[in-house]
Amino acid sequence: MIIVPEKEIGALMVRKESYEAVEQVFAAMAAGDACNFPVVREAIGHADALYGFKGGFDRAGMTLGLKAGGYWPNNLETHGLINHQSTVFLFDPDTGRVKALVGGNLLTALRTAAASSVSINHLARKDAKVIGMVGAGHQATFQLRAALEQRKFDKVIGWNLHPEMLPNIEKVATEGGLPFEAVDLPGLVEADVIITITSSFAPILMSGHVADGTHIACMGTDTVGKQEVAADLVARASVFTDEVAQAVTLGESQHAIAAGLKRQSDIRQIGEVINGTHRGRSSDDEVTLFDGTGVGLQDLAVASAVVDLAVQQGIAIEVDF
Ligand code: NAD
Repeated sequence: MIIVPEKEIGALMVRKESYEAVEQVFAAMAAGDACNFPVVREAIGHADALYGFKGGFDRAGMTLGLKAGGYWPNNLETHGLINHQSTVFLFDPDTGRVKALVGGNLLTALRTAAASSVSINHLARKDAKVIGMVGAGHQATFQLRAALEQRKFDKVIGWNLHPEMLPNIEKVATEGGLPFEAVDLPGLVEADVIITITSSFAPILMSGHVADGTHIACMGTDTVGKQEVAADLVARASVFTDEVAQAVTLGESQHAIAAGLKRQSDIRQIGEVINGTHRGRSSDDEVTLFDGTGVGLQDLAVASAVVDLAVQQGIAIEVDF
């Protein structure tokens, strides 16, 4: 068995590899070559923790496994650890033997950023110039860094409920050589691409805040009840997702579906666009929306890529197990 510790991931995994791994697995999902298994997520009744498993099998990439982990809200204060903790287990699909144990914390941020980045590449207008951020927390910095690689943006604008966090994304814009401007929500109408990445349970982004032709990547809503975008904005957009079953139950689309404003059959997998079986954006005026719910296969794809890199670079730990 190979072990790749969390501390090695930062030097091993770069955005290009994350992007490629996630794009490939989305394509495999849409082609029917990869499927996610039902997600388990439970309040364990200890340390206020939410713990669970996300697993799946990608026949195209021959990746079988699961990510185990969750959210321990008191970690930082009590233990000096980050609140989100996860580990990926990979198994040999031919024998069921455990193949690898990989730190999953940084990988989660990279695979989530790669998902919105894939959506921007395939759905945003080619001439997109202004990117707008809604959210400025831990994930937002990864999201923005990955997005900046997809188009020749010339400006970053951002809004956050807690404005004191905006310097987090301003720093990423500056690193990318771009000006940053804090805006109010109506100011987001200037954006050609908007990423939402907050832990909101009520709509923030309204239809009037979004110009025709914008691509929106909704990345924060990954749980029943969460919401970042008004249901009528979801209804106005052409909606793409990682996995339709998750989008309609725990993704951003859940609210438009519940309100009867969108049908499940209107929501397409992003993998169809990658595979060329759906044309994706159909006009420069269309609003496209990616409902990025986060699937286990994304975690397995990036973990598998990390194992390959660790072996190639001679830093994989091998254990006789
Ligand atoms: P974080 O705690 O670092 O940041 C939270 C962000 O949400 C901040 O910008 C904060 O100001 C904002 N916020 C908090 N409460 C809010 C409210 N009531 N209304 C509006 N904004 C609010 O968290 P993070 O690690 O950046 O994660 C952000 C979100 O992304 C979380 O909801 C997390 O569950 C989700 N997430 C999704 C995926 C996926 O695959 N889709 C993966 C990882 C995380």
